[in-house]
Amino acid sequence: MFGDDARMHAQAPKMAFSMEAQSMDIHDIQRRRVVAGLLAGGGLLASGTTDASPPRRAHHAPSRVGIAVVGLGEYAAFVLERLASCRTAYPAALVTGSKDKARAIAARYGIPDAAIHGYDDYARLADDETIVAVHICLPVGLHAQHALKALAAGKHVLCEKPLAATAAEARALADAARDAGKVLMPAYRAWFSDAVQDALGRCREGTHGALASVDAHKGFHLRQPAGNWRFDPALSGGGCLTDIGIYSVQLQRWACGGLPRSVTAVAHRRPGDARFAQVESDIGWVAQFDGGVLATGSASWRYRLQNRLRLGFEQAWLDLDPATPAMGERMRLGLDGPNRVEELMFPLRDQVPRMYEAFADACMGRSAPPVAASEGIADLVMMEAIRQAAASGTTVALPAG
Ligand code: NDP
Repeated sequence: MFGDDARMHAQAPKMAFSMEAQSMDIHDIQRRRVVAGLLAGGGLLASGTTDASPPRRAHHAPSRVGIAVVGLGEYAAFVLERLASCRTAYPAALVTGSKDKARAIAARYGIPDAAIHGYDDYARLADDETIVAVHICLPVGLHAQHALKALAAGKHVLCEKPLAATAAEARALADAARDAGKVLMPAYRAWFSDAVQDALGRCREGTHGALASVDAHKGFHLRQPAGNWRFDPALSGGGCLTDIGIYSVQLQRWACGGLPRSVTAVAHRRPGDARFAQVESDIGWVAQFDGGVLATGSASWRYRLQNRLRLGFEQAWLDLDPATPAMGERMRLGLDGPNRVEELMFPLRDQVPRMYEAFADACMGRSAPPVAASEGIADLVMMEAIRQAAASGTTVALPAG
């Protein structure tokens, strides 16, 4: 199973999603009240790739955008299955340091041997016109250098979260993409969540009055052992904040429509666990956004499953719990007049194929990328402020604008 939410949800009951739900259009969303408990636990998760599931063949067609997946780890295995199911994109190539592993994956998706590349083969990628774009699924510290190589090879780039290890690297990437005339899109699948979009719409439209607070928390027991790249700051860019706190940072910024004015924070490295010698295992922050909106956030690699968002409006509260699952979305609304709690359920729709299809549209010039590179930069700016506040024990101010 793959990382982040899947790591979170590995312990949660799995529920395979139906093709019917998967194919529903956004306009067909039926909001239904559900019996409490249906989504109990950490949320729903599409069943991921298993060796027993039938292989899907992905073939070149002029209408489909060929994507090379770079780095064949756990998350790549999860997204490849979904990429192969897309209408407008398909896995055209693999870029890896492990060609034996890649050959088995290539066979599964009908990718020819000639389309298996090493990390130094970007010149060969440049020569292959069937590869229109890359999806970078490497350790965070390698995102920027590979994205730059891919842009130089004339490819559009979809890059896993966070966009780079630092905001400065991410800005350089965005500049390179602009100069090359290529799309650079952070692979923020949560943007493609119906429940998240519904919640953000209520913030924008003032449906429940002004927004006053945003609490976003995410944590789980990290199972990766010592030696994993996530514990090496040069490869990870940081600890749990960079890995999963980024989801809460995204949600807070999206809800508030910008960066905070100031941040205070505390970070902790769990003693006695060698994995956390150089990176935080837990972090918590309070941020103040324009209009006095107060945001509390936390990330932890040692909680039991936690993944939630609560928005406090003048006239209502709104809960997403889980907030950013790979799939499966439930919203609770606390409303006045009369005092009541409503529970809304959104159809099960896989975010990843929708993300690929939006990216493919952007590559083909059919629409702008729904997640701009500037979103990836802003998240890194806020995470750097949080980390600086935790390290200094002071409140860090961010520039307006
Ligand atoms: P893994 O450790 O499972 O895989 C990383 C892969 O990168 C490796 O399998 C390897 O592939 C390649 N690699 C190249 N150089 C190195 C190196 N020095 N050390 C380790 N691996 C290396 O990580 P994940 O798949 O969990 O994460 C990959 C990316 O995906 C990260 O950016 C992460 O933040 C993101 N992610 C996003 C999620 C989401 O929900 N959006 C969920 C989980 C992760 P090979 O053997 O082919 O060379």
